[in-house]
Amino acid sequence: MDGTALARTIVAEAAATAADFTARTGAAPCLATVLVGEDPASVTYVRMKRNRCAKAGIESRHVALPATVSTAELVDTVTGLSEDPSVHGILLQHPMGHHIDERAAFEAIAPGKDVDGVTMHSFAAMGFGLPGFASCTPGGIMRLLDAYDVDLAGKHAVVVGRSAILGKPAGMLLLGRDATVTYCHSRTKDLAAHVREADVLIAAVGRPRFIRGEDIKPGAVVVDAGYNEGNVGDVDFDGARERASLITPVPGGVGPMTIAVLLSQTVRAAVTGIGPAAG
Ligand code: NAP
Repeated sequence: MDGTALARTIVAEAAATAADFTARTGAAPCLATVLVGEDPASVTYVRMKRNRCAKAGIESRHVALPATVSTAELVDTVTGLSEDPSVHGILLQHPMGHHIDERAAFEAIAPGKDVDGVTMHSFAAMGFGLPGFASCTPGGIMRLLDAYDVDLAGKHAVVVGRSAILGKPAGMLLLGRDATVTYCHSRTKDLAAHVREADVLIAAVGRPRFIRGEDIKPGAVVVDAGYNEGNVGDVDFDGARERASLITPVPGGVGPMTIAVLLSQTVRAAVTGIGPAAG
């Protein structure tokens, strides 16, 4: 499954809608990016996201806060952006530092501006199938599966990983589409036995080539969300592609989808508000 090509299509659609919005209202859709401190990886991620916004005709307003900022000051800043009508989406880059109550900071994002899908509101919306924004990576996974017409109803989806931003919401979105979902994690016994049962496998572990090709069920759909040092995923791609009917490469699979969903959801926040059900 070609995430690069699909992401390009999604971003082109977002750019066309953004241009129309700008022509109608006189102001472009605006994503506020908030960065605490100067962690090099975070600086790079935010810069990349802002560059992509600019190319799509989305304004980005950057707020850089010192690493010493308090939770109260950060919450105040985010609340101000939530209340600012010229800001349509808010991206609060994680990690924010050990002294920060990150949950409190995320919850200061208004649900209608949570285009990164990190608040409890968005999480609940994904669970209930109610209007809200999806976490970007799980949202990107669902768009990939849809673009390749993967029928999920009644399929056994196995999600390896249960983080709040990736594994857990991915499983909720798959459940919402009538898959039978199994979550695996570090305490799961005989992980390979679960993987062998998967019609749809979502790998979200963060360990290079952790899922062995020989454990993939013949004909399975394999989505590798992992991104590890050396540009390798969580799945042994060469082994798995022999057995899978569809598989995402790393890089070029899930990775480009995440930012495409961020841009798409920012434009949606500007144009229609919180919009249809997450995912
Ligand atoms: P995370 O928060 O570290 O979560 C990893 C999950 O894997 C946890 O649920 C953990 O289980 C589970 N796990 C760890 N070791 C395991 C083992 N030996 N057996 C079974 N499960 C195990 O990571 P994350 O943020 O979800 O990210 C996962 C991967 O996706 C990383 O490679 C990351 O770079 C990538 N990622 C990519 C994107 C993208 O844009 N493409 C976005 C986000 C993340 P426990 O819960 O029991 O600890």
